[in-house]
Amino acid sequence: MPLPAHSGQDQPLRYACSLPLAHGTLVRVPLGKRHVLGVVTHTSAPADFDGTTREAQPLHPDLPPMAPDWMALVAFAAGYYQRTVGEAAVAVLPPLLKHVTAKALTKSLQAPAATMATAHTAAEAAAVTPTAAQDAALQTWREAKRPVLLHGVTGSGKTEVYLRATADVLSQPQAQVLVLVPEINLTPQLVQRFEARFGAAAVAVQHSAMTPVQRLRHWLRGHTGAARVMLGTRLAVFASLPHLRAVVVDEEHDPSYKSQDGLRFHARDLAVYRGHQRQGLDPQARPTLLGSATPSLESWHAARKGRYGLATLAQRAAQARMPEVHVVDTRHIPAKAWLAPQVLADLQQAADRGEQGLVLLNRRGYAVALQCPGCSWKSACAHCSAFQVYHKADGRLRCHHCGSSARVPRQCPTCGELDIKPVGHGTEQAQEQLAHLLGAQRKADGSPWRVLRMDADTTQGTAALTEALAQVHRGEVDVLLGTQMIAKGHDFRRLSVAVALEVDAALYSADFRAPERLFALLMQTMGRAGRDQAHPARMWVQTGSPQHPVFAALAQHDYVAFAQTTLAQREQAALPPFTHQALIRCEARQMTSALAFLQRARDALAPTLGEAHLFAPVPAPMVRLAGRERAQMLLESSRRQLTRAAAQRVRQHLLGMARQGILRWTIDMDPLQI
Ligand SMILES: [Zn+2]
Ligand SMILES: [Zn+2]
Repeated sequence: MPLPAHSGQDQPLRYACSLPLAHGTLVRVPLGKRHVLGVVTHTSAPADFDGTTREAQPLHPDLPPMAPDWMALVAFAAGYYQRTVGEAAVAVLPPLLKHVTAKALTKSLQAPAATMATAHTAAEAAAVTPTAAQDAALQTWREAKRPVLLHGVTGSGKTEVYLRATADVLSQPQAQVLVLVPEINLTPQLVQRFEARFGAAAVAVQHSAMTPVQRLRHWLRGHTGAARVMLGTRLAVFASLPHLRAVVVDEEHDPSYKSQDGLRFHARDLAVYRGHQRQGLDPQARPTLLGSATPSLESWHAARKGRYGLATLAQRAAQARMPEVHVVDTRHIPAKAWLAPQVLADLQQAADRGEQGLVLLNRRGYAVALQCPGCSWKSACAHCSAFQVYHKADGRLRCHHCGSSARVPRQCPTCGELDIKPVGHGTEQAQEQLAHLLGAQRKADGSPWRVLRMDADTTQGTAALTEALAQVHRGEVDVLLGTQMIAKGHDFRRLSVAVALEVDAALYSADFRAPERLFALLMQTMGRAGRDQAHPARMWVQTGSPQHPVFAALAQHDYVAFAQTTLAQREQAALPPFTHQALIRCEARQMTSALAFLQRARDALAPTLGEAHLFAPVPAPMVRLAGRERAQMLLESSRRQLTRAAAQRVRQHLLGMARQGILRWTIDMDPLQI
């Protein structure tokens, strides 16, 4: 049951049932005045109950119980990520199960079983001949006993490897495959390719844009074995798949695989665990396949140490070449120009050839903030250590962290100055400036420029997003401008120029993973260009630090060089993957109480943690968030098991501490942001 540890109820509760219940049965049980969802973990003889024992009801007589390996997966995740088993189990089940009626469940359970589209499969697969490199990668995976990292440059055909690996497994009766992707909405083509290959009836999906009813139906199709392929975002790593024989993780480096809330699991790490687990139970199960053009340094390090197998796709498919990279020193372009003249000219030439350009600016809104030239006033958020971002379209200031918003003031609230100004660019302003730069001109054929902006503000809802992507695919857009969402896995066939703007903040960030994320984002952006042109595509990066090693590696398309340099630095600085971290976070109304709470814990615990080191508490990088003040302390050791054991002790200790003034504390294992 979803009982957190601080409720004092860490042990299973006891209920009676007139029917025999198998372990793993989903039940609805009374808790105080409510009814909650639960999973049966233990059963005992009727004699153990008395008249006060309350009754549990199975959700549905035809609903198969959760399999023992699913229960073990959830127990493992709960233990590792410092939650109770009940919290973890209920958090990863479809939310609708909490209050679905038996009648509705009956209807959902009657979904037809999958018929594999065998004829379709053969036709579609025959149309694609795998390259020698794809064949070799598949062979590596087929022979592997351990997880395999598939390092393939963008456009090298990783998806075809996933499809063939899946087909391998599905040739066994009943077998199921789990495919994890970072953001399904942004990559509808991947779902389409799986459906085309295996038939839509064999494929179920799980992602956050589905309605609760859709989510439950698709989940049930996995749970009952009707669906043979489950495609989903991070939560799908917990999908119930009784005949699971392989897990594929696409874009395994993507930070969205780490949950930043509740059960703070990492779906890629759990995918590796789940692969091992299935292999231990089922001799037919295959190891997990992790794919990326820019693998996480954790996975790359594991492959270099031989803990993972490594397969490489070094060439793009067909004749497509990787784009030429040009780094533009922003110190040499006029401050007002914003876009270097040669970059603008290249975008224009591409449009004249009937090709497209992409401009990445990873910041939405119009301006970073509003600022008063007369005094020091800036549009700071009252609740966070952040600025409220200026959104010109609706004349509002909006905090991207807590969501608070306000009308743009007519004059400076401090000194009354009327001429308050935007500072820093967001996509909204970039769109305006592009329109200004291009507005006076026509393309070679006399038609006007078409600029499309794509970011979280313009693509609310799946329909808007699908339509925007379709416009790009139909060639109705000359320049696509947007945040990181335009860099994700899209297969844009006409795109020949990619531009990245304002990337420098990541180079000098206090977050040691920022350069790794920037490199991955730039490689991914570059990968959108030059997929279908005979002439080389170009990538432009505007930066004030052109000598930074990230750009040298980017120009050579050399992930390996980047990974080796960065890993050497991490080893020297004793940072992950050479150490294993946990972050203890604490929120309070006052920073002093948050720091004091953590300090008391540290004083008591530090001498007892052996090789694991507990650092002194410090204010979080974002000190205030939504009116709460945040402190944190880092736990670190050289081995995963040591950090885990120490985190367990920290948790036990914190549970026993008085919490005066403390709103919340959490333990984040393997945190991505420190
Ligand atoms: Zn002012
Ligand atoms: Zn805020």
